[in-house]
Order: sequence, then structure tokens, then C-alpha cells
Amino acid sequence: MNSIIHHAYNPERFRQAGHMLIDQLADLLAASQQRTATHVHPWQPPEEQFQFWQSYLQSDHNDFFSVLLEKSTNVQHPHYVGHQVTAPVPETALAGLISDLLNNGMGVYEVGQASTAIERVVVKEVAGAMGFDAEAADGFITSGGTLANLTALLAARSIKAKEEVWTRGHQEPLALLVSEQAHYCVDRAVRIMGWGEAGIIKVPTDAQYRMRTDLLEAYYQQAVAEGKQVIAVVGSACSTATGSFDDLEAIGAFCRTHDLWFHVDGAHGGASAFSDTYRHLVKGIEQADSVVMDFHKMLLTPALATLLLFRDGRHSYQTFAQKADYLFSNSEEPEWYNLAKRTFECTKFMMGVKVFTILKHHGTELWNAHVTQTFDLGKSFAKLLQEHPNFELAVEPQCNIVCFRYVQPEVEEEELNALNTAIRTAVLEDGRFYIVKTLLDGKVYLRTTLMNPFTTVEDLVKLLEFGKALLVFNAAGR
Ligand SMILES: *Cc1c(COP(=O)(O)O)cnc(C)c1O
Repeated sequence: MNSIIHHAYNPERFRQAGHMLIDQLADLLAASQQRTATHVHPWQPPEEQFQFWQSYLQSDHNDFFSVLLEKSTNVQHPHYVGHQVTAPVPETALAGLISDLLNNGMGVYEVGQASTAIERVVVKEVAGAMGFDAEAADGFITSGGTLANLTALLAARSIKAKEEVWTRGHQEPLALLVSEQAHYCVDRAVRIMGWGEAGIIKVPTDAQYRMRTDLLEAYYQQAVAEGKQVIAVVGSACSTATGSFDDLEAIGAFCRTHDLWFHVDGAHGGASAFSDTYRHLVKGIEQADSVVMDFHKMLLTPALATLLLFRDGRHSYQTFAQKADYLFSNSEEPEWYNLAKRTFECTKFMMGVKVFTILKHHGTELWNAHVTQTFDLGKSFAKLLQEHPNFELAVEPQCNIVCFRYVQPEVEEEELNALNTAIRTAVLEDGRFYIVKTLLDGKVYLRTTLMNPFTTVEDLVKLLEFGKALLVFNAAGR
């Protein structure tokens, strides 16, 4: 055999590189937790970064993994308080190694027997823990909340539309109701399904950015009067920008009254179901026809791993099929073990094994601890901000997403927007913390999602001092 192939697959070379890498990663974890690692990332503009890697490829350097580690964002650092990606439990990365090396496809049972069954165990466990009847409920794990929401809404369309959409397409102008604060992927799903802009009816939110469920009836009646066929309501649990939880019980009741599909986008906050303290935020979630929940956000699992759960498991087979074919004939049994019948993916990686690793080694108690702790931290951070004369909250946080801004007396809104944009850019380019920003009602807010299990109030005090110091420094430089 060709020696280049032998070299690439050499087991001893793999063993050595693997041991070295695990040591490096363990060192990185320790340095992050002890905060001896100073930076979350070394900031570099896109073009420079591109040029660096282009010349690195041509160089004779032989330290790719080390350099990659140095130049990547370190979500394990407690000063990573930006977007909603988790700091994975380290041993889930080990499970990932198995998935990557064995590469079981999972489209059909034979190509991933263990991982297919493991995925089902995970789905059933999690469904039960979330308050669903685990016997009746069913679903699968798929590639991200965005794709999962689309998959759920396609099933809703298949079930609720009057026409046989899967075989004949549809003429009726379908539509759904959703809060104006919903994640953009719901809007995108509606347009992908061909319903156009008219197909997404955005219900206004209250001062806490939660759906005004008292307006649902009026918006529904208006849509009907316009000749639309409303088939679903999507609840956000929670919204991405401010972490606001819609009233799921109210939406559920409304859906039952009008025979609508009740979908919950719980990509971030569905995980509240695991917290003894914060479960009340998703009260009513168990009434939903379908629920999306990202394991890779609040549940300490590497991306991508998203649960799409159906209260009536039989519906999970209807995304890519006409109405319940299998229910009426025995010729086509629902085969839970041939996952590609239900998922967008044909080949997919061994998605359940990382979640299973957590369940097996730590149980849902780890999720309870993590969700509770980070949501508590959101509240402590809010208190800190309220007590500070120069900071203002956008809204009292319900979870670990906190939006705030720097304010000064008698400064125009426009100037405040510029100031906060400048702070965020300065923090980003400095690299010792990572935060993001968001626009709410025309105002620029700094946004933190407290995802890391090691972030403390002291870290957040440092962040505020640091932000202010950068501001003073920049002002002096101007
Ligand atoms: C993050 C998020 C999504 C998108 O999920 P991905 O896994 O990033 O595709 C959808 N909805 C909400 C509410 C989210 O917070």
C-alpha cells in the first residue's frame, strides 16, 4: 500500500499525538478555571486571520493543534460571557473522539446500532424529565435549533394544512403566529416553506419582551378575516435577545381553542425544565405539540445536538410524509431505528452519545445545578448593575441572559449608542472578556449570556470596571 496512507493512519502516531493533545487540553482547562489564562481570545480582524492561516499552511511549522488552540475562542474561560454556546463537560469531548473516529452514519440502523438506540434512550429520558409522557412522546436529535424549528414546522404543516401538502403542495395561504422577539430562524422557516412575509404574523411584546398573549385572539381573527389559514403558534422559551419567556400555558390554551399546532422554541430556555428553582418559567411546555431544545446551549454538550420532541411521538414521522400513512396501513410501520425517515440529515454523527455521557456519569442533577446556578448569577449581575450609577438594565432578567448599557446623565441617546458600541468593540478587540451587543427599541445594549459554570460575581465586577476603564482610556485617546 502507498506509504502516504500508512503514515496518515499510523496507530502509534495517533496514540502519541492524542496523549499530547489531551495533556494540552487539560492544561487549558486548568488555566481557564484558575484564570491564569488571561485571554478568552486573541482578537484579529478577518483578513489578517485569513492571511495568517494561508501562510501557516505553506510554512514548515509542525504545531498546528497548539496554534489552533491559541488562536481560537476559549469558551472554557469564565470570562467568556457572550453568545449562547456552552462550555462542554470535558468528557463529552472524549465521547466526540469516538464518534469522530468510528463515524457511524446513523441514517439507517445498521450503520449506527449503538448510537441509534442511545439516542432513543436520551430522547425518552429527557422527555420524561421535562414532564412529557415518555411513553407517548418521541423525537430525535438533530443539527441545531434552526434546523429543528424548520423540521417541527414542516410536521405542523403536514398535519394541520387542509391540503395534502407533501404530495400536492398547497394553494391555501398558510400562516403562523409568533412573538416579534422570536429568533430569526422562525421567520426563515416560514419563508423557506414558501408562505412569504404574510405567513409570519408577529405578535407584539410587553415591556419585558414577552408575547402579548392577550392580543393573540385579535391577531388571529384579523388573519382569518384576511383569508389566511393560521395553523400554528410558536412560543419562545426564551427569546434570544433578552431571555424573555412567553406564557406557554396561555399559548397552549389558545391553541387548543382554535385547534392550532403549539410549537415551543426552547432552544435556550427549554433547559429550565431541569432546574428545581426555575422550572416554573416553562410551565405548560408539556402541552406543546413539539418542542426544540439545544443541548449545546444550557446543557453542557458540544454543538450541534438539538432535541426535537413531539408530545405525540407519531407526529415525528410526518415531516417528510403525508398525513399518517402508517397509521392507516400496516404496510409502513414507523421505524424509530431508521432515523433518516424523520431527520433532515441522511448521514449524521453519533449525536446522542455526548448527551448520554452526561446522563450516565452525572445524571440530570448536573443540569439542575448548572441551570440554577447560571440563572441565579443573572439575577446577581442584574442587582450589581442596578446599584451602579453608570449602568442600566434593559429589562429585569428572567434567566442568564442580561442586557444592559452604560449611561451618563444628560447624554443624548445617539451618543449613548455610540458609547456602548465603542465599549463592546474595545472589549472584543482587547480579548480578555467576551460580550456581545443587541439593539432593543433603537437602543444599543451590551449583552451577556452567563454560560460558563465557573463565572462568578467577582468576574462580572471585573468586567464592569474593565469596560469603564477602556472607555476612559479611549476618551483620553480621542
Ligand atoms: C440559539 C437559538 C436558536 C438557534 O439555534 P441553533 O442551535 O443556533 O441553530 C433558535 N431559537 C432560539 C430561541 C435560540 O436561542
